[in-house]
Amino acid sequence: MGLFKPAWQSNNLEEALKAVKELTNQRELARVVRDAGSIQVEKAALGKLTDRKILEKFATSGARDIREAASERLDSLVWQERIEKADKITDQRILADVAKNTGDYGAHNYWICGMTALQKITDQEILADVAKNGKNESVRTAALDKITDQAKLVDIAINSWGQEFASEILSKLKLSDQVALDIIANCKSRDMRLQTLWAIKKSSAIADILIGATDNKVIDDIFWFLSNKTVRNNELLTYVFEKAKADYVKNLALKELGGYICSSCKCVNIPEEGHAVSCTCKRCKTENHCFIKEQETITLDNTTEKVITWEKCQHCGLERNRNEEIRFTDW
Ligand SMILES: [Zn+2]
Ligand SMILES: [Zn+2]
Repeated sequence: MGLFKPAWQSNNLEEALKAVKELTNQRELARVVRDAGSIQVEKAALGKLTDRKILEKFATSGARDIREAASERLDSLVWQERIEKADKITDQRILADVAKNTGDYGAHNYWICGMTALQKITDQEILADVAKNGKNESVRTAALDKITDQAKLVDIAINSWGQEFASEILSKLKLSDQVALDIIANCKSRDMRLQTLWAIKKSSAIADILIGATDNKVIDDIFWFLSNKTVRNNELLTYVFEKAKADYVKNLALKELGGYICSSCKCVNIPEEGHAVSCTCKRCKTENHCFIKEQETITLDNTTEKVITWEKCQHCGLERNRNEEIRFTDW
């Protein structure tokens, strides 16, 4: 032990760390990493190294702790440089490129880099591009946050797949029924479509989309929405059934109404207000039941059960084809 023991070699950890804090000379810092003897002091010195060559040496030789810390330090230096670079860019298109290509996975620094670029974008068109096409969800959302242009918001609502956007966009849009209809008929995201449906004030507007709709995906979503609304609107469904262009829409409306087309005379039977549909066709008196299979299992003892199956009409409750079968359960 020499007479001139440097302060960073002090047995007092606090004093040693304080000494490292004051060092800037890269060679001296490297010496600390090699000779301090305390992993905490060595790591503190590593954190102050900026010389790539020295760091690379530590990253490839020596104790595992130091190797790992040195690699991390190198990595963070690379990112620091990239972030500084991103902060210096002023060209909006290059900034867009950086913001858009920040991925959804990877280092936290990666994300910071994208966000740094995004903060410098002011062009609404470019922000919309990032919001629609960015790879990272939080960067996309941050881009959306900066958009005020209503037409751009509608464009994003229609062309974005991102689920996170639906409520965000709707909270920023001044949504007229006309704009809502445009989004519902054309948007790619189901979430967007359903949330916009909830925002529509006039239900007749929804009927109008159904009447003209030809895209089954859109049609399915709207019927799903209608069947989940607490108040059934038979008047609307009847109107849709009568006016719809597509058979697909007609059939779904009829099913939702609980009606049927007579198998014999093709007359449409729809339930009267407040009543179940009659299974006897109102015009030709043919019976049109709609049977579904029912089943019940009764346990008789440890080894046997009775399985009863039958068919039941969904409309009038009529049952047929009752069958009982004993099954052995321990086989
Ligand atoms: Zn009939
Ligand atoms: Zn029936």
